[in-house]
Parts: sequence; structure tokens; C-alpha cells
Amino acid sequence: MAHNYESIHFSSHGRASTNASKPEVTERLRAIVGAENVLVDPDKVEPYGGDAVKEKFPPEAVVFPSTTAEVVAILKLANEVIFPVTARGGGVGYTGGAVPVEGGIVVGTDRMNRIIEINADDLYAVCEPGITTFALQQEVEKHGVFFPPDPASYKDSYIGGNIAENAGGMRTPKYGNTKRYVLGLEVVTATGEVIRTGGKTEKNVVGFDLTGLMCGSEGMLGIITEATLKLLPLTETTSTVRASFRSMEAACKVLTKFTPEGILPMAMEVIDKYCIEAIEQNYAFGLSPDAAAILLVAVDGSRAEVEKHSVRIEQILSENGGFDVLRAASGADEDKLWDVRRAISPSLMKFGTLKINEDVVVPRSKVPELVARIEDIAKKHNTFVANFGHAGDGNIHVNFVCDRDDSEEIARARECVKETFQLSVDLGGTISGEHGIGYVKAPYMDYAIDRPTLEIMKGIKQVFDPKGILNPGKMFV
Ligand SMILES: Cc1cc2nc3c(=O)[nH]c(=O)nc-3n(C[C@H](O)[C@H](O)[C@H](O)COP(=O)(O)OP(=O)(O)OC[C@H]3O[C@@H](n4cnc5c(N)ncnc54)[C@H](O)[C@@H]3O)c2cc1C
Repeated sequence: MAHNYESIHFSSHGRASTNASKPEVTERLRAIVGAENVLVDPDKVEPYGGDAVKEKFPPEAVVFPSTTAEVVAILKLANEVIFPVTARGGGVGYTGGAVPVEGGIVVGTDRMNRIIEINADDLYAVCEPGITTFALQQEVEKHGVFFPPDPASYKDSYIGGNIAENAGGMRTPKYGNTKRYVLGLEVVTATGEVIRTGGKTEKNVVGFDLTGLMCGSEGMLGIITEATLKLLPLTETTSTVRASFRSMEAACKVLTKFTPEGILPMAMEVIDKYCIEAIEQNYAFGLSPDAAAILLVAVDGSRAEVEKHSVRIEQILSENGGFDVLRAASGADEDKLWDVRRAISPSLMKFGTLKINEDVVVPRSKVPELVARIEDIAKKHNTFVANFGHAGDGNIHVNFVCDRDDSEEIARARECVKETFQLSVDLGGTISGEHGIGYVKAPYMDYAIDRPTLEIMKGIKQVFDPKGILNPGKMFV
């Protein structure tokens, strides 16, 4: 996509600076949000140049608006003077979505963190984008309701970032991803127009579904300034069952065995033997040395239903090759079972200094084939791979681990990534289940989206952002 901003010189970061660096722009930004809410000092803007990808492209300025009117003024300025604007939530994205790869300013939503309304009768909450997922969950639960989307990053990620990435989580097999819980939005488009999508009701079929369009739009169409979110009644209890298996294939084949019994687990997570080895070395949980895979299955609901389903889940796991079957009821015991899952990401660094983490997704019946063939791909390219993740919704975290100083090994891992993407698409899935595209996966968009569909997406971007100022360098390259 062509961008219209003029590059005037190279900044101290070694990249082309944009008009955002002009002193008069800094002054106008200060006039909009207050001088104390504009950062330009290189040391201060540097942390806003990266996310969980850990590559840094520092912006020329960071601004922290506190109202929709301030966001409008910022975007009108960017459209007039022409410089890139990248919205930022908690900055814990996995695909560089909030990273200002083409410079310009970052709009931090940290000060827009108010809850405006919690309405348990009508099952919705209205909030600003800068509240963390965790803080929102805590507040709504005081009213006997809950907000189901639960990305593992929930203590750091913001609601705006969750919506812009259409985040998923452990509870997705039963509850779905963030999009299902967004009833309405207030958005400032790139040209500084305020639009309101959807409303406060589940049923709302007036006009095109712009709320759905904004979910997963990765900050490329507008900046979300308010969200109306759907809530559900709190469930009475939960229970988790953990089983070990002698192969990953055996563990993954169990995923489809609960449906015929009328059981819809809220979470089903799988862990492969390399993850188990890494976790045991780091944390010594005492997992069985015979375990080549672990499956965690969690259910929620009324006490009676959870008890009945947990008993049957234990039986199904045992009948299908599971051993060391353990059940924990709600609370600290259940948490201990999940500690194993939480320990994976940090432990995998034992295998190398660079972890290329993909989050492909396939229909869940295809997960056994997916993981087996990914192992074949890794073997073919002599690359280390460890698989774990949200198997219950077919979303596997594929980790190619290598040495960050070995360019030849990294090139082999990149080859594995390409083949894994193609495999996922061939199996009826796609290249990202929840982390989005950002700049990291932008070169692979055409694996998943055909040309005419891609052209429509680019056309939509053009309508919302004719001058290409919002989050350039993402998704379409
Ligand atoms: C340890 C760890 C675990 C994770 N686990 C999960 C998981 O289980 N499930 C999952 O889905 N993801 C997970 N992630 C990825 C990530 O946390 C999610 O994508 C999350 O939604 C990002 O939220 P954020 O607030 O950090 O957004 P950011 O990284 O700040 O931004 C992400 C994107 O949203 C845009 N954006 C942010 N705010 C706005 C706004 N107000 N308006 C418009 N656009 C905006 C940005 O421009 C960017 O494109 C994990 C990440 C880490 C580091």
C-alpha cells in the first residue's frame, strides 16, 4: 500500500523520520493532550517501539489522550500534516501490531481506562479501551456476571487490544473469542470522524456489521474509544481433569470424544513431550516420565452438572489411552494443574535463544494430523519444534526454537513456518487463530486470503483511511 507521508530525514533510530518529528507538530500535540502527556525524549519513547515480538522500532512521539475529542484532534492533525499513527493497548501483542514500524506517533490508550457502566440486568458493560482485561473481569464479577474472553496475557492486555486482535484464550472452545462479546463500539476513524457501531443489545441487524469488521482490524481502520461488551451470568463452579498419554496423536484424538456425550468443555489444552521435558527440567512438577503428551480438560456450570461431566471426562480419558488421570475441583488444586500449562512458554527457552511462535488453527478433528505433520516438517529441515496450545478449538502454538546467532538455522526455521502455514490452510484452517497478522505475518497473508478477498480488504482500508496513516506496514505488504 502506498503511503502519502513525506520522509524528510533519517532519525537517530536509523529510519526515515516523518512529519511527526516537526517541532510544530509536537507543539500541536501538546496543545491537544497537555504537555505532560506527550513523550518525545528518545529514552522515553523507546519502550513504545516494541511488543512481545521484542523487536524495536521506536516512534517519534507517544501521546496519551484521555477523551474521544482528543483522539479526534490527534487524527485530524495526522491527516492534515500527514504522519503515521499507531494505537497501542497493553503492548503485549505477538505479531508486532502496536509496533510503529514506519515511525510517526503512538497513541497510548492508558489514560482511557474507565468503566462507564456495568448493567447486570441487561448483561452488558460499557468501558474505555485502556482498561486491562483482568481489571474489567474483576469489576464485572462483583455484579455476578463475567466477561468470558481470557487471553493468557489478560493481566497486561487491554480491552482495546483484545478487540483489535479479536483475542482468544483458554475458554474459547465453549465461549468463543472476543468478537462474540462486542455488542457495540465508538471508533474514531483515520480522518477524525466518530462512528458508532452496533448497540447495547445482542439482537441488532441494522446495516452492515461494522462492529464485527472492527474486531480483528488491528488498529488499521480506526481507534476504538469505547466498547459495549456482552456479559454472561457467573457459573457456579469449575473442574479440571488432567491426563497423560503415550503419544500426541492419542491425546489429540480424544478432543472429539466429548461431543457425543453432550459435554462441551470450556477448555482443552494439549502439551507435547518437548514441552513436558522443558517444564520438568525447570519446575520438577513430577510429571510421569512415560508421558509423551498431556491433555487438560476443564468444564464449568452448576455443581451437579460439573460433577457429572467430570466423572465422565475421567472415564473417557482413561478409555482412550489416558493414564495418571487427575481431577481437581475449583480453587487452588485446579490452579496447580494449570501451573503446568503456564510453565511452558518460559521453559521452552531451554532449547535455544530464539523462539518463533506461530498460532495456526485447524478444525479440531484435524489436530492429530496437524501436529504429526508439523513434526515431519521440522525433521525434514533439521529444526527443533515444540507444540502446545488450545487444542479444543484447533489452535496450536507451534514453537520453532533455534539459536538467534545462527542465520542458517533461522532460515531453516522460517522454511518450516511457511510449510506449516500451507499445511494449516490445506487442512481447512488458517495461519493465525488469535495473535493476528501485524507486520510479522504480513508476508504470508496470501497463504490464507485469496486475491479478490484481499482486494476487498484493501478497499475497506482505503474507505476508512484514505491517506494510509493508521498503522502502516501491517497486514498488507
Ligand atoms: C504471555 C502472552 C500470552 C498471550 N496469550 C494470548 C492468548 O491466550 N490469546 C490471545 O488471543 N493472545 C494472546 N497473547 C497475545 C496478545 O496478548 C493479544 O493479542 C492481546 O489482545 C493484545 O492486547 P494489547 O492490549 O497488548 O494490544 P497491543 O499489543 O497494544 O496492540 C495490538 C493491536 O491492537 C491495536 N490496538 C490497540 N488498542 C487499540 C484501540 N483502542 N483501537 C484500535 N486498535 C487498537 C494495535 O494498534 C495493534 O494492532 C499473548 C501474549 C503474551 C505476551
